[in-house]
Amino acid sequence: MTYDELFNSHLDALRDEGNYRVFADLERKRGAFPAAKNYHEGAERDVTVWCSNDYLGMGQHPDVLEAMKTAIDTNGAGAGGTRNISGTNHQHLLLEAELADLHGKEAALLFTSGYVSNWAALSTLGGKLPGAVILSDALNHASMIEGIRHARCEKKIWAHNDLADLERQLQACDPDAPKIIAFESVYSMDGDIAPIEAICDLADKYNAMTYLDEVHAVGMYGPRGGGIAERDGVMDRVTLIEGTLAKAFGVMGGYITGSEALCDFIRSFASGFIFTTALPPAVAAGATASIRHLKASRIERAAQKRQVARLRARLDQVGIPHLDNPSHIIPVMIKDPVKCKMIADILMDEYGIYVQPINYPTVPKGTERLRFTPGPLHSDADIEHLVQAINSLWQQCALARAVA
Ligand code: PLP
Repeated sequence: MTYDELFNSHLDALRDEGNYRVFADLERKRGAFPAAKNYHEGAERDVTVWCSNDYLGMGQHPDVLEAMKTAIDTNGAGAGGTRNISGTNHQHLLLEAELADLHGKEAALLFTSGYVSNWAALSTLGGKLPGAVILSDALNHASMIEGIRHARCEKKIWAHNDLADLERQLQACDPDAPKIIAFESVYSMDGDIAPIEAICDLADKYNAMTYLDEVHAVGMYGPRGGGIAERDGVMDRVTLIEGTLAKAFGVMGGYITGSEALCDFIRSFASGFIFTTALPPAVAAGATASIRHLKASRIERAAQKRQVARLRARLDQVGIPHLDNPSHIIPVMIKDPVKCKMIADILMDEYGIYVQPINYPTVPKGTERLRFTPGPLHSDADIEHLVQAINSLWQQCALARAVA
């Protein structure tokens, strides 16, 4: 068997399960989000994007674009090196100060993505603190799981958002061992939210530190967009808050915030921070502009809430079942990978609606879904078009309706 035959046999298995991924070939249109162009089999069509993580449309915001253009004109394209060797640009320090302020922490540290920040920070904490134990929520993101795996320390998985199970597992730990409770605020696939304050209470009781991924919350929750911990008034109780610049802030990059000592520790020991080129200064400048805007403006957050509530209400009216949760994420459950992709294909081809089918391994098999993320730039007419389209497809695909 050749290597290519070997690769293809694995790909064929994915195809047979209905889990082979096909990417939409999109061209975003400046200033027109959520409208985009889709290239498909030699043709071009206009689509409305319904599954973007540019949750507030900040990737098209004039302040962000202007800051990036100005920084390119001033600083050029790349950073020119790792943070240690010539790559630290003033824009990075401005952004780190902005992030520390956003989360009410002493310091912040930038990474090239949210994935890298989780991977680097968790692997360093678990790997460098002697005898460390990481207690990880069962539904944590792949980047946290990989970081924990790479730490090669003891790990305990606690049932998702289950405080009793977390306490049981904390009780079973050596009281003198460094303990890290790792969890998210908004879980991206189900859209449910962690009880942060109660987790911090347990952390205090058992002398553990808390590691909170706010990737799907920063920019969108709290009076200044500091996330769920800010909304709940508990930012100061969380040891480390991790986030991304790539979702509601609309640009790219990841970060951690915490005490000076914590950030200096990760800066000094994390391979994923030390041995990679720093973000381009223009990316940092765009992110700073976005964070500053969302600290001051509540317009985007209010409009997002309105459109999320509107889509949920319309889905309820036509009996389309969706997961009930307190966040901005609306998962419509299909529970079959082939049907999920088929519905997404028809939405794109016949209605100009782009929603990516979410299949295994992003979600467990049997929980395949369409994940809608309404934002402030979706109009009421966009919502109506979407609901009518799903409603008619539901009939064609003989899917069960929610009982009113
Ligand atoms: N953490 C969570 C919970 C995520 O869902 C994601 C990703 O998409 C990440 C981290 C990674 O963030 P980024 O896309 O910036 O790499």
